[in-house]
Amino acid sequence: MRNLLRMLALLLLLTLLAGCNATALAEDDDEEIYFSDVISMDMITYNNVPWEFPVDIMDMEPELIRLANKQTLLPKDFVPQNLVDVPKLRLNDAGENTSGGVRYVDGPWQLSRECLQALVALCDAARAEGYELYLKSGYRSYRTQSYMYENRLEKYGYDDGWVARPGSSDHQTGLGCDVVPKKWTDRGMNEDMAREPETQWMAANCARFGFILRYPADKEDVTQINYEPWHLRYVGVPVATYIMENGLTLEEFHEELAAAIEAFVAAGGPVSMVDDLMMD
Ligand SMILES: [Zn+2]
Repeated sequence: MRNLLRMLALLLLLTLLAGCNATALAEDDDEEIYFSDVISMDMITYNNVPWEFPVDIMDMEPELIRLANKQTLLPKDFVPQNLVDVPKLRLNDAGENTSGGVRYVDGPWQLSRECLQALVALCDAARAEGYELYLKSGYRSYRTQSYMYENRLEKYGYDDGWVARPGSSDHQTGLGCDVVPKKWTDRGMNEDMAREPETQWMAANCARFGFILRYPADKEDVTQINYEPWHLRYVGVPVATYIMENGLTLEEFHEELAAAIEAFVAAGGPVSMVDDLMMD
């Protein structure tokens, strides 16, 4: 359905461009003025209703922006589509990644296919700049998360905020992963990791691969999760870019998006364009 909409939008754009060129050729005095009148990228409209949110409808995949937190629990039987095994990194003599994998510990791991592809690209780019990154946690099922949560409760006697309760873990989406520098592969994770050059590289570069820092330092009141400089969440490049440039959390993104959808529909925008982006 989304692909169909995408295709229709593209066709419409091509038609507009073609019409525009023809007119522009006929009256070449007004060429530039006419062109910018028709294709004004900051005023995307659907059925003549403007979509004023900074990220276009077509640049958001419902599955990729799915929220899992204490308020929005994933169902017990929720398993992401496209889960794949994470291959171990193999390099040839030229230092090229021949396995389509990453370095990892505590595995084997699974991730959603899109997330894995982006993670491989991110780790390869980091390596090219001299930073080795290790995947330390990937997809976790509802059941695994339950064990982890119960064990933590038993050990400490209370919920210390370090292990998400079942259904609320970003790891259950298949799009969340913990990525750490080598010297942190075998020690307890804490926010001191943020001082490592690898982690700083990740924070500065993750968005261009489609990742956000899911649990930022200054947003613990919003996420209700401690700062985790290692936890990346794949959302796709356009959404990641917007979130990271504006210092948002996924929760805040959804709040803004919900308001934009409400305004769009209230102005007569077609519900079918946005209904799969709305949270249940
Ligand atoms: Zn994590």
